[in-house]
Amino acid sequence: MSTKIAVAKGDGIGPEIMAAVLRIFEAANVPLEYEYVEMGKSYFDAGHSTGMTPAAKETIERLGLLFKGPMETPKGKGVKSINVTARKVWNTYANQRDFRSLNGVDTVFSKAGIPINLTIVRENIEDTYGGIEHLLTNDVAVGRRIITRPGSAQVIRYAFEMARRKGYTKLACGHKANIMKLTDGMFLETFYEIAKEFPDIESSDIIVDDLCMKLVSRPEIFQAIVLTNLQGDIVSDLCAGLVGGLGFAPSANIGDNISIFEAVHGTAPDIQGKGIANPTALLLSGILMLRYLGYTTAAAAIENSLLYTLEQGIHTGDFGDKSTPSANTEAFADAVIANL
Ligand code: NAD
Repeated sequence: MSTKIAVAKGDGIGPEIMAAVLRIFEAANVPLEYEYVEMGKSYFDAGHSTGMTPAAKETIERLGLLFKGPMETPKGKGVKSINVTARKVWNTYANQRDFRSLNGVDTVFSKAGIPINLTIVRENIEDTYGGIEHLLTNDVAVGRRIITRPGSAQVIRYAFEMARRKGYTKLACGHKANIMKLTDGMFLETFYEIAKEFPDIESSDIIVDDLCMKLVSRPEIFQAIVLTNLQGDIVSDLCAGLVGGLGFAPSANIGDNISIFEAVHGTAPDIQGKGIANPTALLLSGILMLRYLGYTTAAAAIENSLLYTLEQGIHTGDFGDKSTPSANTEAFADAVIANL
C-alpha cells in the first residue's frame, strides 16, 4: 500500500533538487504518491500572507505530511518567514536534525578518524521566533522571548523518545540558564522533570557556549542534544559544518498531526538555475521521512546507494576539491540511481 504525501518544490534551487530526489525515489520504487501544493515566495507575492494557497493548506492538513524544498523569505519589515509560519501554523514543535560523518565527504574530523553521529533536537515554535519586537525609542529596540512549560515539555519528551528509538544512551540539554534564569531555567527544569520518565537514557546539561566549544573540539562525546529555538538553530548549523556543510544536513519538523521534512539549507540564490546544487541534504531528509513512515527497507536501499556514491568520490561542487566537482545535480542523481 502506498502513502500519499504533499510536496512543495520550493524556491531557488528547490525545484532542481526536488526533481533529483523524486527521480531517485521513483527508481527505488518508493511506495509514495504525491500531491503537489502551491507554496513559496511567488504565492506570498500573489497576496497569500502565509506563502501558500488555501488549497495547499487544505491538502497538507488532509495528508499530514509535507516534503518541501527550501523557500525564500521575502526581505523587509513586517514580513514573516514562510518556513517559520508553516512550523507555527501546524505546531511542528520538534525540529530534528541528524548529523553524521559520510565516507567520501572529507572534514577535519573524518581526516582525524573521528566519526560523528549526533542529533540536535531544536524547539521549533517558541523563543524569540515569535518575532515580538518593538521600538521603545528610535534607538532602543525590545524583543520578547517566550518559553512555556508545555512547549518545552513536548519537545523534550520527543527528544527522549527519539534517543530511545535510535538506541542512544544519553541526551544532553543545551541552555543558558546561568544567565536567563527564568526562560532557560524553565526549559532546564522541565528537562530534568521529563528525564525521570526515561531512566534508561543518561541525562545531563551543558551551557550553550561550552557546548559550542566542545562540539568543535570533541564532537564524538555527544549523541543527542535538545535546545531552545534560537540556540538550537545556531548549534545545528555549527554541526552541519562538522560533517561537511549545509549540503549534508537533513531535518524533520515533527508535530502531533502534521510533520514537515526538508533540508536545513536555504534556496541558494547564488547557484539557482545552474544545475549544480547538491541534492544530498534533501535526499537525507527524504530518507528520514521514509523511516518515519515505516518504509525502512526503501530508506536503507537509498541510503546505502547514496553512501556508496559519495564513497566513489562522486560529488557536486560545494565540497571537496571545489575546482573539480565530478557531478552536477542530474549526474549525481544518476549515479545514486545506478548504485541502487
Ligand atoms: P542558503 O542555505 O540558501 O545558502 C548558503 C550558502 O550555501 C550559499 O553559498 C549556497 O550556494 C550554499 N548552498 C546551500 N544549499 C546548497 C546545496 N544544496 N548545494 C550547494 N550549495 C548550497 O542560505 P541563505 O543564502 O542565507 O538563504 C537564502 C534564502 O533561503 C533566504 O531567503 C532564506 O530565508 C531562505 N532559507 C530557507 C530555509 C528553508 O526553506 N527551510 C532555510 C534557510 C534559509
